[in-house]
Amino acid sequence: MAKILIIEDEENLANFVSLELQHEGYDTEIQNNGRTGLEEVLNNNWDAILLDLMLPELNGLEVTRRIRQMKNTPIIMITARDDIMDRVSGLDHGADDYIVKPFAIEELLARLRALLRRIDIESGDKKANKQQTTVDYRDIIVEKENRLVRRRNEVINLTKREYELLLTLMENVNTVLEREKLLEMVWGYENNNIETNVVDVYVRYLRNKIDLPGEDSYIQTVRGLGYVMRT
Ligand code: CA
Repeated sequence: MAKILIIEDEENLANFVSLELQHEGYDTEIQNNGRTGLEEVLNNNWDAILLDLMLPELNGLEVTRRIRQMKNTPIIMITARDDIMDRVSGLDHGADDYIVKPFAIEELLARLRALLRRIDIESGDKKANKQQTTVDYRDIIVEKENRLVRRRNEVINLTKREYELLLTLMENVNTVLEREKLLEMVWGYENNNIETNVVDVYVRYLRNKIDLPGEDSYIQTVRGLGYVMRT
């Protein structure tokens, strides 16, 4: 279980991110200012740090600079919209990635997973030797251990349910899955009285995220039955 330190002075945002990370199985702690955040980083071992740029006492750039004198803990810088110079500067100071407020929590989770995976590979620990199970369909690749979906190098951010729906369709290529079957497989419903149009709604969400303009949808509708990904 990875330990993530959140250094962010907006309490609501910090608490929200913390709860979401815990929900995903991470261990978290929050520090509300740059000085105590830096002390926490230097005194303990963290797998990654989410670091706000504008912080009381010590700003994020200064915190990054001081961390880098001592440690290589991966840092994702959180910046306000349009602070392009600060973002570049953050990366120059040694941050590993940045995310712009306001951000979707799925995007943050995907970046964090990607960062931790990269660190694992670079550090050559035993996880790096573990074979990543991937499933692919056309140019979409799902890395199952990372729960990461990408098209070539571009990460596609999906919610948990969208991810499970996509994976289920991809693992059953060329099999038409009825709406009832999908409800059972993805949502865990066994009761046939539940409205099946929730499946249609989620297929629409998924198409909006994975389909390319002007090209056939990745997911084919089988009228009156359900959905399929055909090769
Ligand atoms: Ca702030």
